[in-house]
Amino acid sequence: MKIRVFTNVRRKESGLQEKIENLIISNGFELDNENPDVVLYTGGDGTFLRSVQYYLDKLNKIKFLGINFGNLGFFCDYQKDDLDQLIQDLKDNKFSETTHSLLKGEIVSEEKTETIYAINEIRIENPFHTLICDVLINNDTLETFHGNGLLVASSLGSSAYNKSLGGSIIQPTLECLQLTEIATIQNNFNRSLGSSFVVNKSDKITLKGELKQSVVGFDYQTLNDIVLKELTVSLSDKKVTILHPKNYSYLQKIKRSFIQ
Ligand code: NAP
Ligand code: MN
Repeated sequence: MKIRVFTNVRRKESGLQEKIENLIISNGFELDNENPDVVLYTGGDGTFLRSVQYYLDKLNKIKFLGINFGNLGFFCDYQKDDLDQLIQDLKDNKFSETTHSLLKGEIVSEEKTETIYAINEIRIENPFHTLICDVLINNDTLETFHGNGLLVASSLGSSAYNKSLGGSIIQPTLECLQLTEIATIQNNFNRSLGSSFVVNKSDKITLKGELKQSVVGFDYQTLNDIVLKELTVSLSDKKVTILHPKNYSYLQKIKRSFIQ
């Protein structure tokens, strides 16, 4: 089995990456940065998001496995004291796995059209002026939105920014899109749905309007040098496979992350 150890710069400088790589080699695995079978990322979640973006064109050949050396580490089922257990599970190839579609954003701006991919969410936000845009689902107009922004979360990303906005947590194996408002204006002149809207996995959500000064955000990245005209978000054909311990429970993860 060929493994890539993916860390952030800080954990690389601390010697953690080298320590794990040595452990990998001494247990009979091969290191391969180009075409790994498994990407072993050392969380926080930002490192997982970055490792998936890094291998965007090879996702069908790679499985992602996370161990947390950061803060929350929602995407990491192993904690830092479980390193030996993780190596043993790799030797036994003893995992359960889940597969999740990435979000696809098709952007039309004055400058160009481009496609972006995200794991958690794609959003538009305007921190300067009221953002006004039409919201269409499958080319059918739902509303004209007035507020700070709108976010489309995947199920996997429903527990991130979407949750802070009052959106629902969706079981990650349930494929759908969740449209959530960011500081919507609700009065007798401007009104929008006012709650999150969960739509089918085959639906397309389009945000359209005069979107000057709006920023497109996707996971940890932003596009702020474009004059956006239209953004369409759908589920993409790209899928990420995550390895979990055999006894993995999403419910316990929600509890550990948000309740206890
Ligand atoms: P970050 O600022 O470190 O992330 C913010 C927090 O979200 C961290 O605690 C992170 O965990 C956690 N997180 C990320 N994805 C999650 C998920 N799917 N479920 C539950 N928690 C999750 O930045 P980052 O690590 O590069 O992550 C980028 C993400 O931050 C964006 O995709 C967005 O969802 C989120 N974000 C949230 C807010 C908000 O809630 N108001 C604002 C901006 C961005 P770690 O501590 O392990 O990194
Ligand atoms: Mn982080």
